[in-house]
Parts: sequence; C-alpha cells; structure tokens
Amino acid sequence: MKIGILALQGAFEEHGHMLDQLGVEHFEIRKKDDLKQDFHGMILPGGESTVMGKLLLELDLFESIQTKINNGLPVLGTCAGLILLAKQVKEGKPHLATMDINVQRNAYGRQLGSFNTQGMFDHLGTVPMTFIRAPYIESVSGNAKVLATVDEHIVAARQENQCVVAFHPELTQDTRVHEYFLRMI
Ligand code: GLN
Repeated sequence: MKIGILALQGAFEEHGHMLDQLGVEHFEIRKKDDLKQDFHGMILPGGESTVMGKLLLELDLFESIQTKINNGLPVLGTCAGLILLAKQVKEGKPHLATMDINVQRNAYGRQLGSFNTQGMFDHLGTVPMTFIRAPYIESVSGNAKVLATVDEHIVAARQENQCVVAFHPELTQDTRVHEYFLRMI
C-alpha cells in the first residue's frame, strides 16, 4: 500500500512520520508528475486552506486531485485538509468541494483557537485531539456521517472514500485515526 501526502504547505511531514510508525509506504505530492505513480490513498494535511487551494490551482494539481477523489480515491483530510474537501465553507470559499459537509473556518476564534482535548471517535473509543485554529463542521448532508463531536460540534466525518478530522491526529502519539483511514483502503 502506498499513500500520497500533499506537501505544498503545512503539517505534511508529521503525517509521514505516522505512516513510518505504521510501516506504510508514502511519498510527497508537490507537482503534477508526482500523481503519475500508482497509489492507494491520499492525505491532505493541516496548514492554511486558502494558500493550499491557491497552490493547487497554480501548480495545476487541482483538477487531477478532484477527479481522483470523485472517482473513489480514499482521502484523509485534517484541519485545512477538511476545509479543502468541504462543499460549503462559511468565512471562506469552497475548494475541491467533494464532500457534503458545511464547514466553519477558524470556528473557535483566535483566543481559543488552539487546545487539546479527548473525544470519542466512531468505534475507536476516546482519542486525543489537538486543535489548531481549527474549523468545525456545522452540518453534514447526503450520505456523510458524523464520526466525532466535541462540545456538540462535529469534528470528524466520513463520506464513502473521504474521512475528515478538524484536529491533528499526526501531532499526537496515537496512530488509531491513521489506522482507521488505512482500513478504508
Ligand atoms: N485555520 C486554517 C485554515 O483556515 C486551518 C488550521 C489548520 O490546519 N491547523 O485553513
């Protein structure tokens, strides 16, 4: 199994470390040629969704990635990656728009923007959750399902081949969210 990690900006290296721990092969997606190889899943990391959206267009990666996801490539979007996948973005514009979630950017405000907590994640039990200027999901529609909530806000969801989390599992020692994604493949 081989995973492509979008490496234009943000916290992509840490996802690589997680996959190393799990013994899973991975590579960085920085340019269009990188998409030529065979791979089985993709991670869209945290960072700044506006910058990543812009770079995806400038580097001519946008359409190819959007098509791959729409054709069923399993994808894990964390934080800014979640925003990139949302069809509706409050306080921002939709980017890849492949997932039926309605997202609020910087939803916790500036002061409360970064915090650590724990929450139930689908059938995994309680997982550590690190939020950094995080979004949350205001609502899901279509066949998108809620996987986790914190203080009544949706912080993780899944729709078929797409899994998104508003927090940063790659910044914890807990590999279960990544393993959950790998099981989707
Ligand atoms: N606030 C960022 C955005 O809007 C997301 C923050 C993050 O990825 N840690 O893209």
